[in-house]
This record gives sequence, C-alpha cells and structure tokens, in this order.
Amino acid sequence: MGFVVAIDGPAGSGKGTITKIIAEKRNLVSIDTGAMYRCVALDCLENKVEPTDIEGIEKILKDIDIKLENKNGVQKVFLNGKDVSEEIRTPKVDDVVAKYAAIKQVRDKVTPIQRKMGETQNIIMEGRDIGTVVFPNADVKIFLDCSLEERANRRYKQDIENGMNVTYEEVLESIIERNKLETEREIAPFVKAEDAIVVDTTHLSIEEVVNEILKIIDTFK
Ligand code: C5P
Repeated sequence: MGFVVAIDGPAGSGKGTITKIIAEKRNLVSIDTGAMYRCVALDCLENKVEPTDIEGIEKILKDIDIKLENKNGVQKVFLNGKDVSEEIRTPKVDDVVAKYAAIKQVRDKVTPIQRKMGETQNIIMEGRDIGTVVFPNADVKIFLDCSLEERANRRYKQDIENGMNVTYEEVLESIIERNKLETEREIAPFVKAEDAIVVDTTHLSIEEVVNEILKIIDTFK
C-alpha cells in the first residue's frame, strides 16, 4: 500500500480545489472519486437509463471505461474514451448523480477501482466514503465541514464563472437535495469516520485550509 490521505466532505466544501493544491505540495496523486460517479450518471443520462432501471445500469457498468488523467496539474476525465471533464460538472449531472451513487451495483463497480489506485502510489483521495469505506485504514483522514449557505455560495460562484445559467436558489436547493440523498442512503452513507480530523472551512480561505491540512499530514508522514 502507498501512503493514503482520505478527504471527505460535502459538495461545496472546497475539497476539489484543496486536494489538488495539497497533492502538488506533497507530491501525492490526487484522485477525485466524485468524478467517477459523475461519469456513471452521465453515461446513464446519455443512454436514457433511469436510476430505477437496475438492469439498464448493470449493462452500462459492464462496458463503462472511466479514466482519470493528471497532466501538468490539470485533471482530465475520460468516459469511454471521450473527454467529459466539463460535461460531468453541469447542473444536469449535479441533479441526478446522487441517485446513481446510492445504487449498490454502482458502488460495487467503482469502489474496487479506487482501492486499486492506492495500492501502488501515494495518493490523496477525495469523496464521501473514503475514510469510512474505501480506505478505512488510511494514513490520514480529514473531514471537511462547511455551513450550507457558504457551500451554496461557493458552488454558485463557481458555476457562474464556468458560464452556467443558474440562480443561487437553484444551487442551494440542489445541494440540499444531494446532501439528503448522500447522508440517508443505505450503502456507504456520507458520515464522518470516527477517527477523522474535522476541518471547518466556513470562515477560512483556501490557503488557510491548505496550511491546516498540510500540518496534519506532516505529523503522520
Ligand atoms: O464530489 P462531487 O460533488 O463531485 O461528487 C458527486 C457525487 O458523487 C456526490 O453527490 C455523491 O453522490 C457521489 N459520491 C459518492 N461517494 C464518493 C464521492 C462522490 O457517493 N466517494
């Protein structure tokens, strides 16, 4: 096993940005597990497979090919050979991804791929169940917290910067709904691992969060 840093946190907690910066500073491979669930959701959307159609989903999972590539600090996501890095972040995927991510078959497919990534390299992996299910023995476990309003605010700003046509209320509603599905699902619900260290990012800048997490990582290395 490589050195594993697990970062779990809700949508809009800043996980993605912070994980990438820390990966670079500590020479770790950064892995965005949400991107994998987003690929499954996009594949299903494109093939008109509803979250209730388990047989259809199984067919999609049988042939799906998801690749995460890091080039010069930029992460690219490929779904069945096509670059979908931007498409997986659109509101249409935001709105449905948690429904697909709650399905056992989907998690049974994706979790082993994630575990394999930690076998041969030093990684920082972000998601919802990394410290609880994917790597319960991770070397470092961080749980990023943040108020709901601040998370919606950040996500809204990010969406507007990316040229999306959304309102703050829509973003807030989507985050609330996603959070409910993630925390209430039966398999791998989004909860803090008992031994995770909580970092509340609500009133902290990105730099402050990065520094706090670097300090924590360095005490374990
Ligand atoms: O992190 P991100 O918001 O991109 O994740 C997209 C979705 O994937 C989440 O809403 C959640 O439903 C799902 N997810 C998950 N387990 C993970 C990472 C993401 O269920 N480890």
